[in-house]
Amino acid sequence: MSEKKTVVLPVSDGAIAYAADIIKRGGLVAFPTETVYGLGASAYYPGAAKKIYEAKGRPSDNPLIVHVSEPNEAEDFAVVQSEFYRLAERFMPGPLTVVLKKTEKIDPSVTGGLDTVAVRCPEHPAARALIKASGCPIAAPSANRSGSPSPTEAAHVLADLDGRIDAIIDGGPCRVGVESTVISLDGDGGCTILRPGDVTADMLAEVMRSVRIAGAVTDPSLSGDRPLSPGMKYKHYSPRAEVIAYEGALEEMIDAANCDPAPRVGAIVPDGYADQVKGTALLSGDGGADDMCHAFFSLLRQADELSLDRVYVRVPPKTGKFLALYNRLIRAAGGKITTPEN
Ligand code: AMP
Ligand code: MG
Repeated sequence: MSEKKTVVLPVSDGAIAYAADIIKRGGLVAFPTETVYGLGASAYYPGAAKKIYEAKGRPSDNPLIVHVSEPNEAEDFAVVQSEFYRLAERFMPGPLTVVLKKTEKIDPSVTGGLDTVAVRCPEHPAARALIKASGCPIAAPSANRSGSPSPTEAAHVLADLDGRIDAIIDGGPCRVGVESTVISLDGDGGCTILRPGDVTADMLAEVMRSVRIAGAVTDPSLSGDRPLSPGMKYKHYSPRAEVIAYEGALEEMIDAANCDPAPRVGAIVPDGYADQVKGTALLSGDGGADDMCHAFFSLLRQADELSLDRVYVRVPPKTGKFLALYNRLIRAAGGKITTPEN
């Protein structure tokens, strides 16, 4: 692919207008959302989605999420049920993606050949302003090279995609830090979580009759040939460093990291534990789910900048917002969980 000049833009009215013009002409713009940075192209411009796949090196059967500035814009390209609006009222704009039946208006290249389309209305003001100014829905996966940790800062996008995309809007660090919750509607008043995120099962249960969690969320080996959410089957979120998902008490994990014979070992620990790590302490704030999710991808990238060989991360519970972290961590660790016994 030909090298292009990637322009880094501030968040301003002029920059949004400039970026929208790129989108209207079929170009690629990375933009901040409340979850991670997205790599956007017009969902309607012929051939634009293909450019996203090329820039990321993304397998073409892994569908893109289509972003709208208002929930009702989904009616232009999807079959929208009343349940979608019930969810929208409670969670949109915000970090929730809903899979709906698509109409002819969306090219199959956007949806990885599926007859469904994933819809999200982001809450980040720059993302909404960009979609509004572009005058079309924006197809956008995370703005990283396929397989590497998702970008939560403009610098991460530049590190992966400089010269491969037209522009980046720099809106500072993303609030949530992990990608949106993706759900499908089951047709019986219930929904299934295909990918966990900041909108939790308990929150969804406030508006849905039942909330199921797809098996692949906690067991990557179930992301087989015909997964519910195709993105789940690929190697994901992986830095060059080996990620050790450690199931045990924090002190046990720190002991294991301190005894690891590899030359450069790091451990993701809450701020107060920095002194106990012999190698590199990668600090995750208060260690709660919000801080951990916010820091996780950024710390994996930091591990590579520091050329660490291994990074220890404690396996979180599979509950609440921690489920999103659990899902990313086991994939980053290649599906392997390490315990004090093994
Ligand atoms: P990313 O954009 O990198 O956050 O990845 C988008 C995620 O949404 C991937 O895991 C996709 O498999 C999932 N996704 C997008 N569209 C659909 C769809 N139509 N059905 C099921 N999952 C989808
Ligand atoms: Mg992604």
